[in-house]
Amino acid sequence: MDNPFTVALQQIARAAALAPVGKDFLERIRTPEREISVSIPLSMDDGSVRFLEGYRVQHSSLRGPYKGGIRFHPQTNMDEVRALALWMTLKTAVADIPMGGGKGGITVDPKKLSHAELERLSRGWVRALAPVIGPHIDVPAPDVNTTPGIMAWMEEEYASITGDRSGATFTGKPLSRGGSEGRERATSIGGWYVFEALRGKHSLPRSSSVAVQGMGNVGGHAAEIFASAGHPIVAMSDSKNAVYNEKGLDVAALQNHKKKYGSLDAFQGGEKISNEELLELPVDVLLPAALEDQITARNASRIKAKMIVELANGPTTPEADDELLGRGIPVVPDILANSGGVIVSTFEWEQNLAGEHWSETDVLGKLRTILEKQSALVAAKAEGLHTDLRRGAFTLALERLEGAYRQHLLKKLS
Ligand code: NAD
Repeated sequence: MDNPFTVALQQIARAAALAPVGKDFLERIRTPEREISVSIPLSMDDGSVRFLEGYRVQHSSLRGPYKGGIRFHPQTNMDEVRALALWMTLKTAVADIPMGGGKGGITVDPKKLSHAELERLSRGWVRALAPVIGPHIDVPAPDVNTTPGIMAWMEEEYASITGDRSGATFTGKPLSRGGSEGRERATSIGGWYVFEALRGKHSLPRSSSVAVQGMGNVGGHAAEIFASAGHPIVAMSDSKNAVYNEKGLDVAALQNHKKKYGSLDAFQGGEKISNEELLELPVDVLLPAALEDQITARNASRIKAKMIVELANGPTTPEADDELLGRGIPVVPDILANSGGVIVSTFEWEQNLAGEHWSETDVLGKLRTILEKQSALVAAKAEGLHTDLRRGAFTLALERLEGAYRQHLLKKLS
């Protein structure tokens, strides 16, 4: 697997080669402002104690407090968290929201923990990192394997340690605990807004067939949203395998099956295929919504989708980008396509700080306005530079970040 941080640096270099930025700024943006690695003690239900590795990378505060999710995964490590933090900095800049970029995680398989162990571990992450997070410093959120319930534990732990009752340190909380309307579906619905904003430019049909890799928070909601907008979902996968039905899957039935049996095995409404086969299906739209490093030099030449919308972070490598650009397959980059999550997280933070609660109509209306505007700007950048949408989005982000950097520098030097 490619080192995701190396991939992220390569992506920056490729954008900067087309739209040059200052050397000093480039060095600033390539280097995280702060990286913290902690050892979290966890008392297990059987009375034993384990020590788990936890992380927070605070990549950039040029445009606002650090912002980014916390991932619980057995393969999570500092390089992955560092890459995800850098992508967050670029994402908040593309969305033009007043936030910086950060990311956190724990190397753990949460499926092997009991509910009580998971709660103690989540609270342990907060105890280890409370001194460096806070509503105006660093505002974490959910990511792979972390849920609204986990955010509620974390916010509660933070409040009990610091006395801060604003509820604005963690976003993605349940509605009953200060969460925002629309947050749970925000990443996926945002992906759909971006897709609709760019669909016409790439001559995709009003009813486009869709394959979705991953059926967690992002993939699951995306399948529901695209299907209800008239785009048949022909394939979906979890981490083990995939199901394909050329005529369109019954998304609700598939999700119920997965909930009931914990796997897609024995689902009757489609043919079982592998995750690799799902990526190579002849569909209009491919939605990677699982993990990094899925579309690479190894399989890019076999991708048959007419458009890829990256709901996951980092699913496509630069080598694959080149192959897909050469074959005229547009890739809507993660830093634009999945930015709906952080945008609505920012709305949640604003609501918590102001003691307000906005309606879902307000939240989604504001989200759509931002994403339509930024999608058009990204597409215009890409066209102007005769390049792909990723480099269009990266150059837009770098331009905004460099503006903030020069202002900071002036203030510091004056
Ligand atoms: P999740 O834990 O809810 O779901 C992850 C899904 O991916 C699960 O269905 C899992 O079975 C599947 N999966 C894991 N490994 C896989 C593999 N090798 N092949 C196929 N499927 C696999 O996580 P999520 O919150 O839905 O996040 C998914 C992606 O979206 C991640 O890249 C995450 O960083 C990104 N993202 C999430 C948010 C958010 O708001 N949750 C926001 C922006 C981006």
